[in-house]
Amino acid sequence: MGIKENIEAIKERISNAARRAGRDPEEITLLAASKTRAPQEIREAFNCGIKVFGENRVQEAREKIPALSDLPIEWHMIGHLQTNKVKYAVKMFTLIHSVDSENLIEELEKRAKKEEKIQEVLIEVKLSPEETKHGCKEDEVPFLVEKILEKENLKLLGFMTIPPYVENREEVRPYFAKLREIKEAMERKFGRRFPHLSMGMTHDFEVAIEEGATIVRIGTAIFGPRNY
Ligand SMILES: *Cc1c(COP(=O)(O)O)cnc(C)c1O
Repeated sequence: MGIKENIEAIKERISNAARRAGRDPEEITLLAASKTRAPQEIREAFNCGIKVFGENRVQEAREKIPALSDLPIEWHMIGHLQTNKVKYAVKMFTLIHSVDSENLIEELEKRAKKEEKIQEVLIEVKLSPEETKHGCKEDEVPFLVEKILEKENLKLLGFMTIPPYVENREEVRPYFAKLREIKEAMERKFGRRFPHLSMGMTHDFEVAIEEGATIVRIGTAIFGPRNY
């Protein structure tokens, strides 16, 4: 199948999952995870109706985004962000999904101020014990929320997580439910709405939608397997 058929099939599956959960499919954004994909593939996905693309590495994005500057794409940063790359990230990305430390918050505020931009962010929460994944610990979330809310040039829109990969997708449901509980707890604690839950990838996006995802990040199911 080509990109066009893949996207149509995913949209159908998103609608079905939303309906099962009694949700409006319109409230779910399909973000195409475009790491390793050539500008031509991204262009094709855009022409099939995808407007939001997520990149993992600043350097890769800096090479790719200029080649697509004729398209009104909304670019998101979904990978780990190093503080020394923040200055580029703030110039390129509408939403940064991977804020997980106070250092990063300070640097983002500094660079957003310089750009005279309100930088929208999500806090990435690490809910699985695996060593290699980024994201803050659950008990650090209130502190990081408070830090972001103090900043004039940052706007907190919600939370992101990457659960462990497991064959049986029902086993990831508790991680998605947990992120939703964290979001709701933070809304009560700080008396604000944080509208977004960025969760769900090719393998598990339907479960994520049933648990409240508003942004699903999908690569393989759109573009096919990645060749590194
Ligand atoms: C690569 C990636 C995705 C998409 O993964 P697929 O399994 O290819 O859908 C989603 N989120 C992040 C953070 C990624 O790095």
